[in-house]
Amino acid sequence: MAVLDDAGAMADELTELRHALHREPEIGYDLPRTQRKVLDALAGLPLEISVGEKLTSVTAVLRGGQPGPVVLLRGDMDALPVTEATGEPFASRTDGVMHACGHDLHTTMLAGAARLLSARQPQLPGSVIFMFQPAEEGGAGARFMIEEGVLDAAGERPAAAYALHVLSGTHDRGVFATRPGPALAASDAINVTVRGRGGHASRPHSSADPIPAACEMVTALQAMVTRRFDVFDPVVVTVGSIHAGTARNVIPDEATFAATARSFSPQAKARLRDETLRLVRNIADGYGLTVEAEYVDGYPVTVNDADQAAFAKATAADMFGADRAITSAHPATGSEDFSFVLEQVPGAFVFLGACPAGTDPGTAPTNHSPLAAFDDAVLADGAALYAELAIRRLTALSSPASSSGSSPDPAHD
Ligand SMILES: [Zn+2]
Ligand SMILES: [Zn+2]
Repeated sequence: MAVLDDAGAMADELTELRHALHREPEIGYDLPRTQRKVLDALAGLPLEISVGEKLTSVTAVLRGGQPGPVVLLRGDMDALPVTEATGEPFASRTDGVMHACGHDLHTTMLAGAARLLSARQPQLPGSVIFMFQPAEEGGAGARFMIEEGVLDAAGERPAAAYALHVLSGTHDRGVFATRPGPALAASDAINVTVRGRGGHASRPHSSADPIPAACEMVTALQAMVTRRFDVFDPVVVTVGSIHAGTARNVIPDEATFAATARSFSPQAKARLRDETLRLVRNIADGYGLTVEAEYVDGYPVTVNDADQAAFAKATAADMFGADRAITSAHPATGSEDFSFVLEQVPGAFVFLGACPAGTDPGTAPTNHSPLAAFDDAVLADGAALYAELAIRRLTALSSPASSSGSSPDPAHD
């Protein structure tokens, strides 16, 4: 196929778009300048374009010249509240905002795929939804886009959905990695306030000190992880924030802490909720204190469909060679709101190593670091893979010999 050649031929334009996005990063739901650049990049292509209401999303539908099903491709668009320290000539011009997770590359690669697929519109057997999504970083932008109808944008539900994510470290540059089943963790929040009764620090017996109880909860949560959860269905609990008191000689009225809770199966997640809440309530009770504890659902587990993950890996291997398409040994402990799409559509989330040439991926600054750097050299390959995944999936589903699309999903058993 000429997709890869065509993608290579537009590498300079892709780099230019990525640098423009990178220079003007925006955070959250409202990304007007980013949206503008996406709309400009798609201008003139045979696409049905709509924009979001609650967020500055862009949904573009390409209707192929041949009848067939629908495939969805997703690229996220938002940046992070990080002050860039890469020293790149195209570094962020907005203080305190940086494309530190590489979403500028995803946006660019998806726009490139729209170009590649538009050029093949007459032969394309089916439709492609291009999902340009704000607010991946904690805002659940994918969920809002689903509520606003992105999955029905082409008139019928997609038969498959794919997303790419670049990594500034971890994998060698140009290596695509995916896996069947859980690909990323569910990420939830635990917020705890221990209430006691303040007083003079020299007379703890006449107060009710919340600090020792809060400290015990923090360590007990770690013991809970190892004593109450199967090592082969692991969980992570990290207390990242703890606050109490104002002075060394004053017992405060309350102590608060907040934790992230990560899990890789619905069962582990449900137990994590029950166990953490029970543990902190019972510890507070043991101390004669009261506690307010809440477990707040965040992103679900990102679960790849086994067939779709195998197909994505095989496609990457076919295009780039077997050494550039690997099966991830285990899920990542990060989380992704593409999980909301994969709850409704079988698909695959694929990582792409993008550390700069000459850098050791094992020690390179990771995504979200002020030093995170991503190599423009992966842009054309990423755009080509997006396009090729859509072409091959639509073609396979349209051919009479196809058996895909009706197979059960073992990842959800
Ligand atoms: Zn991120
Ligand atoms: Zn990201």
